[in-house]
Amino acid sequence: AASSVAFIGLGNMGAQMSGRLIAAGYDVVGFDPTEAAREALVAAGGSAAASASDAVSGADFVVLMLPSSRVVEKVLGDTAVLSALGAGTTVVDMSSSEPLSTVELAKVVDKAGAVLVDAPVSGGVAGAAAGSLTIMVGGSDESVSRIKDLLAPMGTMTHVGDVGCGHALKSINNLMAAVGLLVTSEGVAIGKQFGLDPALVVSMVNASSGQNAATDVKFPRFVIPETYNSGFALELMLKDMRIATTLASQIGVATPLGERAVEVWASAHDDLGPGADQTEIARWTFGNSKA
Ligand code: NAD
Repeated sequence: AASSVAFIGLGNMGAQMSGRLIAAGYDVVGFDPTEAAREALVAAGGSAAASASDAVSGADFVVLMLPSSRVVEKVLGDTAVLSALGAGTTVVDMSSSEPLSTVELAKVVDKAGAVLVDAPVSGGVAGAAAGSLTIMVGGSDESVSRIKDLLAPMGTMTHVGDVGCGHALKSINNLMAAVGLLVTSEGVAIGKQFGLDPALVVSMVNASSGQNAATDVKFPRFVIPETYNSGFALELMLKDMRIATTLASQIGVATPLGERAVEVWASAHDDLGPGADQTEIARWTFGNSKA
């Protein structure tokens, strides 16, 4: 029989990733509290469970694609979920979670007779839909070898260290990406105010030494055309930046620029509200220039 996967969290990313697993032949049983998300999974050929513990029951693999460690802790702290885990089941947290929370949860999952591996991703909704995500995996050699085939339909994985290392690396990436997006927004704001064409600024920087993921992808696709629909919430980016700077202070690394960037992103979040896309940091930055 095909291997079965419990997929918990069917949002922007989870909907696409679970679809890739269904297309690869896995039996996917999903759970999300949002009815529309469950209906979309059924339409894609999966089946919907009434709770996380129902989804987990009998599954060979459990994949989590949840907003934050608080939600992951809620799901894995549920005794019904823990007792539904089969012996030797591999739980794969693909969310962008907090490394130290992951290390603690790995002990909880171990006590329940299963194994936790962290496998966060980069590549956005487009990468999730195409199965071209970059997947950063933390765990033992043995547990990581067990999820190689499972991850293949979703992207390319690299084993980066012990449990928690994937989540640490993902937060580092997003801190760097967020600072790049913010400084690109500020650079383009200076150009606009001086009378330069924003699209020209971006294309020239792209062919110069300031080139980064914001000039390469986010500005051309979402900021210059003013669609602001990258599919990654500004709130989630701020969460990831805080994961990196909090980890830094916990382990004794100074990150003055990162901490200042968190403050700027937090004030954009206050002004724009919870529904904003990450790329709206540019619109917000432009709006702060003098008329
Ligand atoms: P999202 O908010 O679109 O999806 C999260 C889903 O989890 C929602 O559908 C929500 O209803 C569901 N959920 C909430 N509580 C739940 C619970 N108790 N049980 C089951 N489901 C629950 O977020 P997303 O953009 O899909 O991101 C998911 C994770 O992946 C986040 O950690 C994010 O930082 C990370 N990530 C996102 C992107 C992106 O481009 N969107 C890229 C890489 C990583």
